[in-house]
Amino acid sequence: MAARSAYGANPHAGASRNNAQARGWGPGWPNAQESKMATVAAAGVKVRVRREIAALVQTLLQVTEKLGYDVKVGQTWGFANRPIRGTKTPSNHSWGLAVDINSLSNPMGSTFKTDLPPRVVSAWESCGFYWGGRYENRPDAMHFEYIGRPADVAAHLAKAKALLNPAPAAVAPPLDLSLLMKQWRIDKAARAGQKPTESLSASEAHWVSWYRRSYGILLTRKGVKYDGRETFLSLTQRFQKAYGLVADGIPGPKTADMLRRLAGYRVQA
Ligand SMILES: [Zn+2]
Repeated sequence: MAARSAYGANPHAGASRNNAQARGWGPGWPNAQESKMATVAAAGVKVRVRREIAALVQTLLQVTEKLGYDVKVGQTWGFANRPIRGTKTPSNHSWGLAVDINSLSNPMGSTFKTDLPPRVVSAWESCGFYWGGRYENRPDAMHFEYIGRPADVAAHLAKAKALLNPAPAAVAPPLDLSLLMKQWRIDKAARAGQKPTESLSASEAHWVSWYRRSYGILLTRKGVKYDGRETFLSLTQRFQKAYGLVADGIPGPKTADMLRRLAGYRVQA
């Protein structure tokens, strides 16, 4: 059980929730549009929701499962032609716009009680759902209701799909010791007033610029000032000094290893 504070601020604070008709969804209870419901099967459960949000709910249930939360049959549902409990206000369930997940461990009541991981709540919330766990008076942690308009569904679905299948992270180049040494030899020749016998290819120069940036970040972390235009050799030397290595300016295995570890480079295959 997580504390209420673990869920952060309500991203939909102040949003209108009980106005589905005005948002373009037609009438709810008592004249619910049952013919517009579709059955979604995902995460081992089946729920009935409005056809327009079926793919969205399906994807979010898959995300919920992927995040390690066990969605339980018999405690999870969608459409229900009824008012909000104890009132004459149509429930969003009567539009098929609300889903209840694991009613037993996320009960509605006077106190906040839930076993939903914050990441699951945040996934639903980021895709247009208002979480009942946010209600002040009578928290209803099982309850998620869609507060968007029909025209908002496509964007929320795209977001949900991105949560399910995130784009691969940008790949950092491996830290290439031989490339570090090549740049060092070029700098050393230049420092001695000699014409370097080697030069970097475009892709090598690109990678060296990554290493320079890493040096810069790591030096800044130690409060060390440096000049962005200084040579790689000089940057290497400052890095070595700042991190307790022999400050000879040669990016040998120990220096490379520390740079790789601190800056999170992959080991080169
Ligand atoms: Zn509910």
